[in-house]
Amino acid sequence: MDKKYDLIVIGGGVLGTFHAYHALQKGMSVAILEKNSKPEGATVRNFGQVVPSGMDRKWQNFGKESLKIYKDIQSQFDISIRQNGTVYLASNEEEMQLIEELHQINSSNDYESHLLTKEQCLVKYSGLLSDYCTGGLFFPQEVTVEPATMIHKLHQFMTANLGLDLVMTTTVVNTESRNGGVVATTSTGKEYKASKMIICNGSDFKILYPEIYNNSDLVVSKLQMLQTKPQHNYKLEGSILTGLTIRRYESFEECKSYAAIKSKENQDSFEKKYGVHILFKQALDGSVILGDSHEYALAKDIDSLGFDLNMDIDNFMIEEAKKIIDLPTYEIQNRWFGLYSQCKTKDIFEHTIGENIHIITGIGGKGMTGSAGFAKHNIDKIFNV
Ligand SMILES: Cc1cc2nc3c(=O)[nH]c(=O)nc-3n(C[C@H](O)[C@H](O)[C@H](O)COP(=O)(O)OP(=O)(O)OC[C@H]3O[C@@H](n4cnc5c(N)ncnc54)[C@H](O)[C@@H]3O)c2cc1C
Repeated sequence: MDKKYDLIVIGGGVLGTFHAYHALQKGMSVAILEKNSKPEGATVRNFGQVVPSGMDRKWQNFGKESLKIYKDIQSQFDISIRQNGTVYLASNEEEMQLIEELHQINSSNDYESHLLTKEQCLVKYSGLLSDYCTGGLFFPQEVTVEPATMIHKLHQFMTANLGLDLVMTTTVVNTESRNGGVVATTSTGKEYKASKMIICNGSDFKILYPEIYNNSDLVVSKLQMLQTKPQHNYKLEGSILTGLTIRRYESFEECKSYAAIKSKENQDSFEKKYGVHILFKQALDGSVILGDSHEYALAKDIDSLGFDLNMDIDNFMIEEAKKIIDLPTYEIQNRWFGLYSQCKTKDIFEHTIGENIHIITGIGGKGMTGSAGFAKHNIDKIFNV
């Protein structure tokens, strides 16, 4: 345990892993300490939609950098990246107006997107219901990842090719500054030393520095997800985002008609109460992942979100999905929830203890999209290079 790393990252989810990746790219010695034998947090429970098109201007730029990073790694090692694009499907004239405006914004930002007619959408997306779709906006550069496997493959790549020390089943219970460096102490009493430390603990607020989180404006969101049985002889390519997403994602807030359209929405609807929007993504085994909903609690009240699934939400999502795409089967093989953290007032939570211990969490619903690009800049900032 005498080795002193340049960087220790606590948390092997996507945000921690990409911080480690960029430090390794700069020739640093890096260890990731992860409490579980495999990451079990938001990074393996999500859709795997890498959608810079849905982000505000700042995070769209991080997302675009992430696309390059994912594609570059994929060209060297299979980490499950598929470039099959993202589509936003409008269900009425208001949503059509918003996708047309988003198309204009992206054209002036030099980000490729194509408006699709209703007929083009019906041809491209098998089973899409004519009654639902008015038209679409397609982003061909965007990719999907397989959340259940991507992070493991990325860890394999970084361990074998970049010299990462990956230390799993290791819970860090204390971090401190000592002799100009930092020390992480595990639950078994082992010490790991480094020049700097980055803590990417996701929504785990009970082990390290609970008082910092309890006094912050961090909230946790609980999202319910569903997965159908594998669909036979059926293909649904890329990320499919629908009308309620157009009304929810940050990029649309820049559209000039957004505020007027939002002001007409019924605030008492079921979808508003539980933050439901309907997204589809086909996994490699042919099953289709459906979601999602959003329930919120302050970081200090995380337990109030409970461990059970609300079947009213699941049933609502299935019924809404059936109005959009007529899948060969809506038989569900898997249901789960995931948690992510986000700040009420900032786009990410950053807190530095002393000079060398940096907490970075609260990336919200944009972690699979933005982490790779954000972490690149953050490593430069933290190491002052
Ligand atoms: C249902 C769902 C759907 C989503 N869909 C998308 C999507 O399609 N596209 C998108 O861009 N984003 C999506 N997101 C958001 C994305 O998944 C998250 O932003 C991202 O995974 C957060 O990564 P993270 O590394 O911060 O956290 P996590 O993945 O939660 O990782 C934190 C890690 O830290 C470890 N840890 C914590 N404390 C300690 C400790 N003391 N010692 C050691 N290890 C510790 C934990 O075990 C965990 O592995 C979704 C999220 C959810 C929940």
